[in-house]
Amino acid sequence: MKGHTVNSEKSAELYARAVEVLPGGNSRTAVYSSPYPIYIQSGSGARVTDADGVERLDFLNNSTTLIHGHAHPEMVAAVTAAVGRGTSFGMPTPVEIEYAEALTARNATFEHVRFTSSGTEAVMMAVQAARAYTGRPKIAKIAGAYHGAYDAVAVNNDGSGSLISHAVTGNPEGVVANTVVIPFNDAEGALAVLREHAADLACVLIDPVPWRIGLVPADKEYLDALREFCDDSGALLISDEVGSFRVGYQGALHVLGSEADLTVLGKVIGGGMPIGAVAGRRRYMSVFDPSQGAPALPHSGSYNANPVSMSSGVASLRLLTPEVMERIGELGERIRQSMRAGIAEAGLDWEVNGLGSLFRVIATSAPEGYASGAAAMKRLYWVLLDNGVHIGDSGLGCVSTPMGDAEITEYAEAFDKSLRQMLA
Ligand code: PLP
Repeated sequence: MKGHTVNSEKSAELYARAVEVLPGGNSRTAVYSSPYPIYIQSGSGARVTDADGVERLDFLNNSTTLIHGHAHPEMVAAVTAAVGRGTSFGMPTPVEIEYAEALTARNATFEHVRFTSSGTEAVMMAVQAARAYTGRPKIAKIAGAYHGAYDAVAVNNDGSGSLISHAVTGNPEGVVANTVVIPFNDAEGALAVLREHAADLACVLIDPVPWRIGLVPADKEYLDALREFCDDSGALLISDEVGSFRVGYQGALHVLGSEADLTVLGKVIGGGMPIGAVAGRRRYMSVFDPSQGAPALPHSGSYNANPVSMSSGVASLRLLTPEVMERIGELGERIRQSMRAGIAEAGLDWEVNGLGSLFRVIATSAPEGYASGAAAMKRLYWVLLDNGVHIGDSGLGCVSTPMGDAEITEYAEAFDKSLRQMLA
């Protein structure tokens, strides 16, 4: 089996130019690809067209962000109209209120909302809000889970799930020392760590369906243990649903039967524009409120709540009705089942995980962990591209609202064909 099977003359040319001006050729570690990434010219609905004019079905949707696919007419109309009225002001706009109303109407725990321009920033503000509210320094996070590029949560985000504290190079000792790492879906193991640090913990930060450690949903016993610990200790439970909010109308934690104090949102809520939000109970969100004097947590950002992202977000949420969420969730389940059947038929011991419209293929079930399947997954990625389908090279993918039966069947056929080719 050869590694790279996709020949894209234009992408190779573009990459040669890119490395002259960008480290690794681009601005996102995750889109780096050897020997070169496939450059995209345009996207429409469920499909993208690359620099050589080759069209493919897109199941990555910008790392699960584009729940309505590419250039959805309602988002294009909303964004175009907003741009025409001016892209940002040093004063608030009415659409920020409309968007906050739409979000708070979805989940009873979203009493107040604060907007940022990315999920990373929203995680950072939620953590800082917990510190400001509790006056405590430490945060707990799940081993291996990803929460964006903020240094305090980049600790131990390597996806391995190992409890050994992996820090990004150069992360100061003080940052690493204030981030406590808990095991995933092991209530007793997590509680043992949390109890040790209880008096110093500002928050327990979780992703209820953490994609980087396999996209397995958190179990009820685990969630109940964390909720109870937070109630007893005074730490805030923060649910980072930047990726997982799309699994249900009210978000992931609601689907799994628990409640957060603060929820971090991003990706799908912005309809394709840069966005992040912290939503939560008024008593915690009050740390942002300057109306009674200097706020406990001053929070600025030149592009926070800019009317283009707000307008796109309003349009995105309007289309995400409970019925639509259920439909794409069912399509997600079909895709997971069809991949599992194809894998079993091929005699492989791979895993397919996920919930709702999200899926992740893991090209191993080896006890040493997901990393051991990374090379096989990368090969599958290129073979799938050759067969007209795009998912992440980590195996991450999702269903978007323009998709239906035809796209699911097309994907399943391409997946089975790719497995046969890999094994030939
Ligand atoms: N949190 C989670 C769970 C994520 O999956 C991501 C992005 O993938 C982030 C935070 C960071 O969001 P953004 O890429 O918008 O900064």
